[in-house]
Amino acid sequence: RHYLMTLDARVEDINSEYFVQATAGFTASDIEETVSRAARRAANRERESGEEDSVREADVLEAAETISREQGTVREFIETPPNQDFDDVAGMAEIKQILRQRVIDPLENPLLYEEYGVDIEHGFLLYGPPGTGKTHISKCLAGELGVNYIHAKASDLVSKFIGEGAQNVEQMFAEARNNEPCLIFIDEIDALVGSRGSQHQTSERQIVNQFLEELSQLNDQDHDVVVVAATNIIEDVDDAMLRSGRFTEQIEIPPPGAEARKEIFKLHLNAPVADLDETRIAALTNGFVASDIEAVAEQAARQAMHRAQHANSIKKVRMADIENAVATIRSCC
Ligand code: ADP
Repeated sequence: RHYLMTLDARVEDINSEYFVQATAGFTASDIEETVSRAARRAANRERESGEEDSVREADVLEAAETISREQGTVREFIETPPNQDFDDVAGMAEIKQILRQRVIDPLENPLLYEEYGVDIEHGFLLYGPPGTGKTHISKCLAGELGVNYIHAKASDLVSKFIGEGAQNVEQMFAEARNNEPCLIFIDEIDALVGSRGSQHQTSERQIVNQFLEELSQLNDQDHDVVVVAATNIIEDVDDAMLRSGRFTEQIEIPPPGAEARKEIFKLHLNAPVADLDETRIAALTNGFVASDIEAVAEQAARQAMHRAQHANSIKKVRMADIENAVATIRSCC
């Protein structure tokens, strides 16, 4: 966005979100090259038509695309930094603190760590029941850091063709290293384990081996790449991943306590509300994970909205809406 503003030419209204996406993973000089090529395209047009012209969105996007192609760096895995950060994570104060100390601080101060010979940890394993926020907090961590982000499901990396899954893993890590600092989030890491006796065992073994090798390389070569993996069942994760310092930090993400449930609810309820009894909401949602609470908030808001539509006036979310929503979510899960 900063580079767009420095363009010394007339610029049409360019959607800076597209620009940020098109230049994801670019170095500063790639971005400079993108904007100067875009300006040249506009200047050429001006010369040809003899009329004043300005840099258009298409100029910028096509310049970025050409540069990506020229470099042969098709960015298959990299996503732009998420636009959510730790403010979007309710509760989880202790986990945020651990991630601040172990992930954010080293990535933000690599020279300090080098000077004091303190190793940066590269592998973190989050474990806990589904819906507790493992994906959410990882995404918000990347957003908090403002770094490139890769979100891969282990099942997407596994290919049924022997050897291909291992190539996917290799390519993903190569992309991350070329675009460091980068945070790789791998969901369902347990899916990388070959079930014994399975006919795909060989290729699955290759994937696991490739993965372990890549993780070890990160440690050896001191890259600013951090891998956060998640699993619902830690017992299903290949032993080799847990041994020998690959995922040194194993962090449990448990279902939220009463205070966290209140906070999660408040964060997700963005509707006009009547006087709500927070303590009762916490009690009603006992045993719920974050995704259930999000669903309760959404459902309660929808009920109030339907009432408002019917009455053609503002209707606030009431305790009764929440009680109904809780009953619905309990009955369906
Ligand atoms: P998991 O990866 O553990 O299965 P997710 O991260 O996908 O769970 O979380 C499910 C949903 O719950 C997400 O849509 C997210 O918005 C919400 N959520 C999870 N944790 C929190 C939290 N701490 N604060 C606010 N919302 C949360």
